[in-house]
Amino acid sequence: MSDAQIIDGKAFAAALRERVGQAVAGLQAAHGAAPGLAVVLVGEDPASEVYVRNKGKQTAECGMRSIEHKLPAETDQQTLLDLIADLNSDDGVDGILVQLPLPDQVDPQAVLDMIDPAKDVDGFHVINAGRLATGGDALVPCTPMGCLLMLKEYLGDLSGKNAVVVGRSNIVGKPMAALLTRENCTVTIAHSRTKDLPAVCRAADILVAAVGRPEMIRGDWIGPGAVVIDVGINRIPAPERGEGKMRLVGDVAFDEAKAVAGAITPVPGGVGPMTIAVLLRNTVEAACRRRGWDLPNI
Ligand code: NDP
Repeated sequence: MSDAQIIDGKAFAAALRERVGQAVAGLQAAHGAAPGLAVVLVGEDPASEVYVRNKGKQTAECGMRSIEHKLPAETDQQTLLDLIADLNSDDGVDGILVQLPLPDQVDPQAVLDMIDPAKDVDGFHVINAGRLATGGDALVPCTPMGCLLMLKEYLGDLSGKNAVVVGRSNIVGKPMAALLTRENCTVTIAHSRTKDLPAVCRAADILVAAVGRPEMIRGDWIGPGAVVIDVGINRIPAPERGEGKMRLVGDVAFDEAKAVAGAITPVPGGVGPMTIAVLLRNTVEAACRRRGWDLPNI
């Protein structure tokens, strides 16, 4: 059997950003306005600063307005809640994203709950989670939506497929399972208490790994020809690259898996690049719904 096809998340993400850019140009022409995304960063976490910079850059490249609020690490909860209230009532703001993690003195749930669900482009608000679970029009968390878009583009109709999602977090596993159910897959959610996880995984036509454990899913856990989506991002020591060097791996043992799977996303370069691209797509969607504009097909 030949090696799995590698699903190129970078190329998928570039194509999605291109479509978002075209949709924004269309909205600008039709309505004389472009969607605006507000990103709130508290403190100076270096990884968060990189994410926020990339989000701002890609938002502007798609023709949207990027509004950044950088607050000092000692910002108290009330100040942050007041800022969210201002952004909620600002008609020029279509999407609000609060970069996590937040400093210890701030309760992240209180902040996320404060965001107007209509502007909740991360899809973390309980109203959006509830709408997704009950089949309503929801803003959906970016990472699982990115996985779904890649799966649909790769496989077409997902109806009737056996899908196994390993991980049940609110930001990846649960919304991923809800999206696959919406696509008429038969979905199993596995987690740390699942019995005989290798056998559960082996039954999957579609296997999504969102665990956070480096290379936990081995090649012999994968059914021949399965499509494997590896959400995990794990930093492990890479002494072969020099002393103290690290490298990124997923939750799936990639080299073993690619000898069995039909297709697989690499880490890095698989799911990761899709996350920001879907954030941009969600911002367009939020703007159209809130402003009563026709939703372009992106
Ligand atoms: P969480 O830690 O919130 O959830 C991990 C899930 O994995 C839990 O449901 C847990 O089960 C399950 N789990 C842990 N150990 C095992 C095990 N031994 N066997 C089976 N299941 C297990 O993680 P997230 O969902 O936030 O993230 C998962 C991974 O995805 C991480 O590597 C993260 O970095 C990455 N990620 C990547 C993104 C991207 O853009 N590509 C975005 C978001 C996350 P239980 O509930 O029973 O404890």
